[in-house]
Amino acid sequence: MAHARRSSATQRVLVQQQHHILDGRFIIRNMRLVARRKVKSHRSLGLMGLQRSSASYKQSVQSIQRTTKDENKGRDLSTKTRTAPLLSDPNTNDPVSLDSSYNSWVEEHPSALDSFDRMMKTAKGKRIVVFLDYDGTLSPIVDNPDRALMSEEMRAALRGVAKYFPTAIISGRSRDKVTEFVKLSNVYYAGSHGMDIMAPPIPVKSSTAGNHQTIAPHGKESTEVLFQPAKKFLPAIQEIVTMLEEKTKKIQGVRIEDNGFCVSVHFRQVRAEDYGILEEKVKSVVEKYPEFHLTEGKMVLEVRPSIEWNKGHALEYLLDTLGFSNSSDVLPLYIGDDRSDEDAFKVIRSRGQGYPIIVSSTPKDTKASYSLQDPSEVLSFLLRLARLKEASFSSRTLKNGSS
Ligand SMILES: [Mg+2]
Repeated sequence: MAHARRSSATQRVLVQQQHHILDGRFIIRNMRLVARRKVKSHRSLGLMGLQRSSASYKQSVQSIQRTTKDENKGRDLSTKTRTAPLLSDPNTNDPVSLDSSYNSWVEEHPSALDSFDRMMKTAKGKRIVVFLDYDGTLSPIVDNPDRALMSEEMRAALRGVAKYFPTAIISGRSRDKVTEFVKLSNVYYAGSHGMDIMAPPIPVKSSTAGNHQTIAPHGKESTEVLFQPAKKFLPAIQEIVTMLEEKTKKIQGVRIEDNGFCVSVHFRQVRAEDYGILEEKVKSVVEKYPEFHLTEGKMVLEVRPSIEWNKGHALEYLLDTLGFSNSSDVLPLYIGDDRSDEDAFKVIRSRGQGYPIIVSSTPKDTKASYSLQDPSEVLSFLLRLARLKEASFSSRTLKNGSS
């Protein structure tokens, strides 16, 4: 019965993505999307005509994005032509172009690369602060979450950006994990969807005083402060991790990741037919902890403490600690690809300053104003951003030198 209810409420189509980089070609294949029946993006995808009523219906979406060898070397490819993803008709396997729906979506969410000059014109005289998600933004989505490594080109581009602009990474992963992936000392890190932030100290507000702890990161003066608004939930989170591991151990392909202040249940490698039972087991654990709730991201279920704190709050907190709380000349820029990033997009929109940028190669319901197709376009964007500042610095140096 429970299974039937779930099926009628939600149509899930399981996903398997495989990313291959071969001779400069980035091929995403065998992509099976997780989708909810009522998600608007489905309508905009124009998939309804291809959907079957069965809840276990599997659909393969083939997205082939060709890049040149130059792109893999991290060169600026902002002028490359955007190719709409291709959808395979599951009956005939013939490609069905999503050109028109994708193109109309891009009209509403223009390419941040194509719009770069216009965006930077508005940014003139303002202080750009860069916020980035990690998985699917700085690194490709891969089957094994432990292997979601960032390329050296991306790292160099990020280092360049962080040299000129305050830069922070806000990830759902644990702060330690994302720090280990990124390996840069000139960026700020927020893990557990912003519930674990290492940032510059600010005058401590009484309401958050208990959440602050001064810590000296490796080899640094104690110039950064740890902010952990969900600290009191740590013992329960540990219990949840243990219980989830125990309850799901017989389901092949499940991976439980302890992110510190939230827990991820990765199901990228779980068989489609096992998904229902996995979801039931995870829900049965979460039901035991009324102070926690379940959310869903890309091929991941996440157990989070029910506190009023998300990536949007983390963005605001970081802006405050960086000294921009009441600044009218700050321009936050947030790049992310998943549902949890929408909270940060909303904050930027409500501030009326800055650019929310979604990373997506398919049309999506989003609060973002601009788009980038994939991490390779994020790389191009970051390179352009760093070069912009480099150019202004070198021209200033030249002027100073000649005077
Ligand atoms: Mg992501």
